[in-house]
Amino acid sequence: MKLPSLNIQILLGAAFGVLVGLLFQNTGTAGTVASGSLYTAGLIGTLFIDLLKMILIPLVFCSIVVGIANLRQHSQMHKVWVTTLIFFILTMGIAMIVGMAASLYFKPGTGLEVTMFDGAMQNFQSKQMPLPEFFAHFLHNLFVNPFQALAESKVLSVVIFALFLGIALVMGGDRYKNILVLLEEGLEITMRMVNWIMVLAPYGVAALLIKLVATQDISMLGTLAEFVAVVAGTLIFHGIVVLPLILFLFTGKTPFWFWGGARQALVTAFATSSSSATLPITMRCATKHLHVKPEIAGFVIPLGATLNMDGTALYEAAAALFVANLIGVELSFAQQMIVFFTAMLASVGAPGIPSAGMVTMVLVLQSVGLPAEAIAILLPIDRMLDTLRTTVNVEGDMAASLVVQKIVS
Ligand code: ASP
Repeated sequence: MKLPSLNIQILLGAAFGVLVGLLFQNTGTAGTVASGSLYTAGLIGTLFIDLLKMILIPLVFCSIVVGIANLRQHSQMHKVWVTTLIFFILTMGIAMIVGMAASLYFKPGTGLEVTMFDGAMQNFQSKQMPLPEFFAHFLHNLFVNPFQALAESKVLSVVIFALFLGIALVMGGDRYKNILVLLEEGLEITMRMVNWIMVLAPYGVAALLIKLVATQDISMLGTLAEFVAVVAGTLIFHGIVVLPLILFLFTGKTPFWFWGGARQALVTAFATSSSSATLPITMRCATKHLHVKPEIAGFVIPLGATLNMDGTALYEAAAALFVANLIGVELSFAQQMIVFFTAMLASVGAPGIPSAGMVTMVLVLQSVGLPAEAIAILLPIDRMLDTLRTTVNVEGDMAASLVVQKIVS
């Protein structure tokens, strides 16, 4: 019997995961069979993420060095750099405007009694995150001993070292051609291993979603329904309307063509809530299905996975306005601008791992004097919303690689 295509298998895996997870929600997770199944699902899901993380660092390292080396040969490097960064900033800015506009219009949180969250807020120790310290920490993380960065999976530091190495390789010309060949073959062989991991994706996605859906406290979704609706609605709007529209305007590519090529990465992002873990699959989709040249994808996608987070930026900005509504503070226009800029900084600084945006959100709240403890209110629904914002983050990276390719070619 011929199996359906991998795309279909992954979608079926996702649907199966959600359904079984909902079943556990209804029947409860107590009992030997239920807890045994959840344990197994958790184990399979984590192993799938482990496999992706195993390949992540060699892949990022090789693809950036090789990408830069090849770009330099086309003397396009400067254009690619600039276009990529401008695209990241613009799309994150648009995402935040969408999220903030909807929050200002619908005012989620105004009707809620803040006292009902007292318990959660008192038991929550928020970490102070003053802006200068956050900024300094971000900068120090750029330049790290490469062996430490590789060993500790510090994606951004690896990206930076790989950029240096790529530039040095090209400037050295023929002198280092063997190193370049070695890394080119390294890239090819890591992509081969990504193909193997992809075969397991339907099972990994199903297992992750079973565990996620079964263990969430869905009742909190009801309490915070308005906020959830505003965030989910605007994230979906950004993913379904804004990004495809930008893509269409610059490249003429239709949304369905784009989603068709991108869906394996989108579903994986949804299930893992981690742009970094999804990165190997994002690279594969960009180069194999969306036909982005490896030298462009090799640069834009890893950088995007750590810096370009449309979904996170939207969420952080909307959440700050929600907290303000909740405690009855009216933010002035100047304060809203501060929220805008710190949310951008906080999402750029957030690593591509689950709930990272929640941690850096302290910065946004503190920037306008809102209580960081309010995060305790959002914590119970964070993992659910993280699925959507990570999907939008990853979609933004793939759209960026297509737009940059079009602009520089
Ligand atoms: N989970 C997100 C990502 O990996 C980051 C976040 O918003 O928490 O892209």
